[in-house]
Amino acid sequence: MTNSCQCCSKKIPISKVFCSAECKENFFQKIAISVPKPFVKKLYFFCNEEQKETEIKSFAKRHNWHEELVLEKVEELFQEYYKCG
Ligand SMILES: [Zn+2]
Repeated sequence: MTNSCQCCSKKIPISKVFCSAECKENFFQKIAISVPKPFVKKLYFFCNEEQKETEIKSFAKRHNWHEELVLEKVEELFQEYYKCG
């Protein structure tokens, strides 16, 4: 039997939860990232791709979070808020 990494979904032994220390760190940092709903809305409905990238960059920088993780979180929240099912 195998488990999959909670962060990247890679197959790992059942005794493990994450495939690497990096995934573990990313996973918990991602949980800690909080993105306000109006910010998500603004990014998807009032920004073009370039503006969206700039906004995410400065948001991540302001809070000292990884830009990639913020982007992933924003995408997840967008799915959750605006694309039910
Ligand atoms: Zn992983």
